[in-house]
Amino acid sequence: MVSRVIPVDDFDLVIFGGTGDLARRKILPGLYRRFCAGQMPETARIIGAARSEHDTEEFRQLVRDAIREFSTKNTCDEGQIGAFLERLDYVQVDARGSDGWDALKEMMRDGVVKAYYFSVAPSLFGDIAERLQSYGIADESARIVVEKPFGRDLDSAKKLNADLAKHFDETQIYRIDHYLGKETVQNLMAVRFGNILFEPLWNSQYVDHIQITVAETVGVGGRGEYYDRSGAMRDMVQNHLMQLLCLIAMEPPSRFDPDAVRDEKLKVIRALEPVDHHSIVRGQYEATATEPSYREDAGDPRSTTESFIALRCMISNWRWAGTPFFLRTGKKLKARTSEIAVMFKDAPHSIFGEEAGRHANVLSIRLQPNEGMTLKVTIKEPGPGGMRLVDVPLDMSFAEALGDDAEEITDAYERLIMDVIRGNQTLFMRGDEVEAAWAWTDPLIESWEKRGDMPKAYEAYSSGPEEAAMMLHREGRRWREIKE
Ligand code: NAP
Repeated sequence: MVSRVIPVDDFDLVIFGGTGDLARRKILPGLYRRFCAGQMPETARIIGAARSEHDTEEFRQLVRDAIREFSTKNTCDEGQIGAFLERLDYVQVDARGSDGWDALKEMMRDGVVKAYYFSVAPSLFGDIAERLQSYGIADESARIVVEKPFGRDLDSAKKLNADLAKHFDETQIYRIDHYLGKETVQNLMAVRFGNILFEPLWNSQYVDHIQITVAETVGVGGRGEYYDRSGAMRDMVQNHLMQLLCLIAMEPPSRFDPDAVRDEKLKVIRALEPVDHHSIVRGQYEATATEPSYREDAGDPRSTTESFIALRCMISNWRWAGTPFFLRTGKKLKARTSEIAVMFKDAPHSIFGEEAGRHANVLSIRLQPNEGMTLKVTIKEPGPGGMRLVDVPLDMSFAEALGDDAEEITDAYERLIMDVIRGNQTLFMRGDEVEAAWAWTDPLIESWEKRGDMPKAYEAYSSGPEEAAMMLHREGRRWREIKE
């Protein structure tokens, strides 16, 4: 199977924060891979912009090093890297001052797509947006791309939205949640809305419950103090897990276009019920013989921030009333995995009798590692031992299904940046979605802060606190094992 490369229009892409960690690890290597795939028009350019002094050659060297360090797949030869670097320029710009803005203006061409990637701290978003307008380098077709965290609560998110809205129309603002750029996440929509098989079963009549797990093995390490100001709820649930929940739970949009999809996602967030404290378990990882505890990593022996959270959420609408959605995410868990599992109900009546046991279908959608889907189905155990039933996976690993092309499964950032150039906002969050997500999140955080709730300790590299397992056991359910 040969993947098709759909050309994009000519563009000038400016990366504010072009020397930073995100630019080096994701954005620039991603652009390089699109270049290798032949998707970048011949005259398209990428301009790094940051505060520190570099000439173009130094910036190109920085990017060369980043590509070598972070491009694991589809490694092109040095000649390709050299050709890509030719497209790069650098400008020293102070987001908060006037230095560099005239030089940037000089560099920008007319008649091409202008995209500005704000890969800087959110406190600089307003300053950059304002200068792009006042220096006259953002016309009506210009796009800006902003990164998470998009606020730390509803008020700050509203302020950020308002700061951007002063200078840019909502149709020009691309709020990135890189989970939405993952192949499997889009496949989730293809599976739901491209097949007749699943949609009739996709409701509380047939689905017992849904589990969404995003587990990491790393701790908060060197960024402990920064992380301690947010925690798993703000860092992961409010954005990534919420987006996955929306895609799983939303009604079929009438068209696959940005506002039709985002309208349906917004309805899901607005239908989420408040979560009471019996349905939330927060945790902090403990020290091992050789590694520090969460509190040591955070540099605060009394920290009450969670490095793990599990929630039982309910959606008040006709489709989902009665079906719980269990969300779970954490650091230093036993495996690095992201998975959505749709746990179907048992067959209403077993014609095979008690001894055949209980069997239920499970559709699991793996986001990482090895993206793919598995449908657990029940069949007869082979052999002459009578009608014994056994569950087997109908497995579709993208790596196997796509053969050589799977090597090239496009990284989420690559896809999303190309969508920005195409002007397609479907996989980006709209301002009202972000605000609705905070409006649901804020009261939960306030309530545990008011109660003085202490996170439960959990063993590092385990499945999280016992209490999270108990939350499901109480109602006769159990979490799926966290495994790669
Ligand atoms: P970083 O490594 O600290 O880089 C920040 C960049 O901003 C640097 O290039 C820096 O330039 C530039 N900068 C700082 N002040 C500036 C100013 N006044 N004018 C112009 N440029 C200025 O940060 P990062 O990790 O790349 O993160 C960037 C953004 O992405 C943040 O909002 C972060 O929360 C978000 N994000 C990051 C990741 C990640 O994996 N790193 C993941 C998700 C979201 P100089 O070095 O020249 O000062």
